Amino acid sequence: MGFDEMDVDTIWMDGEFVDWDEAQIHVLTHGLHYGTGVFEGARCYDTEQGPAIFRWEEHLDRLFQSAKPYEMDIDFSKEELTEATIELIQRQELPSCYIRPLAFYGYNSLGVSPSDCPTKTAIAVWPWGAYLGEDALENGIEVMVSSWRKHASSQIPTNAKTTGLYVNSMLAGEEARRNGYAEAIVLNKEGDVAEGPGENIFLVRDGELYTPGLSESILDGITRDTVITLAEDLGYTVHDNVSISRGELNTADELFFTGSAAEVTPIRKVDNVVIGNGSRGPITEEIQSKFFEVVERRTDEYDEWFHYV
Ligand code: PMP
Repeated sequence: MGFDEMDVDTIWMDGEFVDWDEAQIHVLTHGLHYGTGVFEGARCYDTEQGPAIFRWEEHLDRLFQSAKPYEMDIDFSKEELTEATIELIQRQELPSCYIRPLAFYGYNSLGVSPSDCPTKTAIAVWPWGAYLGEDALENGIEVMVSSWRKHASSQIPTNAKTTGLYVNSMLAGEEARRNGYAEAIVLNKEGDVAEGPGENIFLVRDGELYTPGLSESILDGITRDTVITLAEDLGYTVHDNVSISRGELNTADELFFTGSAAEVTPIRKVDNVVIGNGSRGPITEEIQSKFFEVVERRTDEYDEWFHYV
């Protein structure tokens, strides 16, 4: 669904609330040409206690960490960005939404060096349902291993959520969709499993969970961290510092993606090889249902993860 079909009308830009259609930038903006922006994607859930932003502090921390390698100074404090976000959600009366903070080098000159370009900051919120579809959450998706590899972390900081990095994600995802799959799995430069274009990946084998370590060129996903905590609290052993080879995908008992947008999405086939029983596996289902119980606040556990609007 396009933005024009959504009931949203306000964006926060550099300290001001502006009309949706007025949230514009110059075509010679540095970030537009060179991908020099950093961003976040968080979700605010509809709960009995009102809208609740999930792990907001962690998303803000990662935004500021992402800016560091680019020597980008965000001109607003975390408190100011929090106030702006809450007001955006309140003003538009959204019971639940996706939240997209963005900071980027702006307009002044177009040398590759951005040193004289101002840092621009914006936040938008909009309603966004299941990223890969409701059916995906229940029945799982079919994915392909992309022919594109992830950037190595020696080439670009893969732990920073940088706008420019997502051309790689787009290539991998579109290749998969062109071939009839819902999403891609991207290998790292060594040929081991890294992650999805916008998701981390978990594998279940013999009742234990495995997920590629941070040195495998992955984003340090906040949902990844959430799932590790939930799985361990449910009594599972989680190996979160391993390399996973491509072949292990095919022999896994279960596979699933995690992400703020994708939440917990089961994977039922990789390259046409059926994974486990070919549908959402039992451990995936248990973790997914715990995840939704938590984010929808049907439990009072993990209340420290929520920022109520
Ligand atoms: N990897 C990549 C490349 C991503 O874009 C995302 C989405 N932010 C993730 C993993 C999952 O991270 P998170 O759980 O923090 O959304």
